[in-house]
Amino acid sequence: MTKTQGAAVLGLRGVRKSFGDHIVIDGIDLDVHRSEVICIIGPSGSGKSTLLRCMNFLEEYDGGEVVINGRLLGYSQDAGGKRVRDRDVVVDETRRGVGMVFQHFNLWPHMTALENVTAALRLVKQMPKAAADALGAEMLAKVGLSDKAGQYPARLSGGQQQRVAIARALAMQPSIMLFDEPTSALDPELVGEVLQVMRGLAAEGMTMVVVTHEMGFAAEVADRVVFMDAGRIVEQGPPSSLFGAPSHPRLRQFLETWR
Ligand code: ADP
Ligand code: MG
Repeated sequence: MTKTQGAAVLGLRGVRKSFGDHIVIDGIDLDVHRSEVICIIGPSGSGKSTLLRCMNFLEEYDGGEVVINGRLLGYSQDAGGKRVRDRDVVVDETRRGVGMVFQHFNLWPHMTALENVTAALRLVKQMPKAAADALGAEMLAKVGLSDKAGQYPARLSGGQQQRVAIARALAMQPSIMLFDEPTSALDPELVGEVLQVMRGLAAEGMTMVVVTHEMGFAAEVADRVVFMDAGRIVEQGPPSSLFGAPSHPRLRQFLETWR
């Protein structure tokens, strides 16, 4: 079975988002299937971060639908068919399967690596300490940081901190992981170790949406590359066609700047 068969883990239909009268997301349709890796590229300000944030309701989209594992995210229909915003507890329940990794990793400075990874397991999932610690240790091992479990973030490099942030998201056992430029804040020599962890996740079959400027990573790991400009998907396809034979002038122009 190819990755595009079967139900979508995440589905977007005509998603729109404005800030005031500035339309930032202008009708986006996108299906992400199990084990698919989608890389989103595009110029600064094209709406990539906003789109990713709509995928887990960190931004409340104004139109269209975001469906996660078959459930509409953030809204329900009232008796008259009118759209009403779900209560926060319902939103949290729906988006629990979505993990997110940001450019700035925002670890808790007063917690060790292991405590950062297990905090949500304890507080949100109410997991007993021993079980949370065991799962946390497993996740730190997955990102190659077993030996750093007791370290505080200030003692870790940026690359190690970002790997802790990835472990923290993975610990919630999401069905999809969203990454927003996870290596953009890192010194160049630390980028590789984070991409290596992400490559490993992809190889294990994790479903992923990655906003990135790492064209080499996108070319190698993505099943599909999506090029956004001005809040729309302008072109999408396998990396070979998107990078090898870009058809839209805006994409060609964008790729020129990365050569
Ligand atoms: P990208 O990630 O592609 O650089 P963003 O999604 O961050 O783009 O931003 C898209 C546009 O939306 C930009 O013009 C940005 O200034 C605007 N924008 C993003 N977040 C907000 C916000 N909270 N309030 C107002 N404008 C915003
Ligand atoms: Mg962004």
